[in-house]
Amino acid sequence: MQVRSGRDVVIGTVLTSGLSVAASIGLYVAIALLRDGTLDPFWMSFAAAVPLLLATPMVAYLLERLRRLTRAKGEMEELARRDGLTGLLNRRAFFEAAEEALRRAREHRVPLTLLVLDADHFKSINDGHGHAAGDEALKLIARTLLAATRQYDLVGRIGGEEFAVLLRGAAPDEAGLVADRIVSAVHLADFRRGGRPVPLSVSCGIAVLEPGLDLDGLFARADAALYAAKRAGRGRTRTAERDPAAGPVRRTA
Ligand code: GH3
Ligand code: MG
Ligand code: MG
Repeated sequence: MQVRSGRDVVIGTVLTSGLSVAASIGLYVAIALLRDGTLDPFWMSFAAAVPLLLATPMVAYLLERLRRLTRAKGEMEELARRDGLTGLLNRRAFFEAAEEALRRAREHRVPLTLLVLDADHFKSINDGHGHAAGDEALKLIARTLLAATRQYDLVGRIGGEEFAVLLRGAAPDEAGLVADRIVSAVHLADFRRGGRPVPLSVSCGIAVLEPGLDLDGLFARADAALYAAKRAGRGRTRTAERDPAAGPVRRTA
């Protein structure tokens, strides 16, 4: 039973109280008829009043507790979908939502583009400035991703310093611009430790959904493009060709 709102509590209380009153009167009538066949208005009113006085507040209280539990459960479920450090979708939630987005994109024939991003030389940030600084850098990258995307795009942290963005409905050219915007924004982000700027950068692989491609295939292409971006010097984007095994990737930034 899900009790979502105060209105549900009121409706539930009225229904339960009504049934209790009817049951109580029914019981009284049955006993009276069995005993001497006469109905006493006083005891009849008493039978109606007892469940109203006792059960109504109790039912209202229990339903209100149930409503709070339902809400807390929803909040817990939402929390379980989030990465604890950045608040982005975690790996599992991202993949689940991406599967659904892929299904819908195919159904409605809208374009879908996956970006896979990896922070560059991140180990050296941890080594040079400490793990806490690394964590702050990851949070800054996450905020930058959210600022550069739209509300209905999916943004997740799918590994230690690896992120993924699923752009829903964006044409491939548009998706390339979003990826460029993200890479530039991270590059320009003002990340400082002890008053000194610490340069940040990400590399990005781009893969566009095509017929016959599933989520694993899309990720494989985006990953291949990401590593091409790394090999080409980092801090840039690369777009996967139709078949990464068959040919090189196209430069987009
Ligand atoms: P590359 O440009 O090739 O990606 O180099 P890299 O140093 O980023 O890659 P590598 O895989 O060698 O190192 C990744 C580093 O990311 C090492 C790991 O400690 C760090 N890292 C992963 N998760 C976290 C995290 O949650 N917090 C912090 N501070 N560091 C993390
Ligand atoms: Mg990595
Ligand atoms: Mg890295």
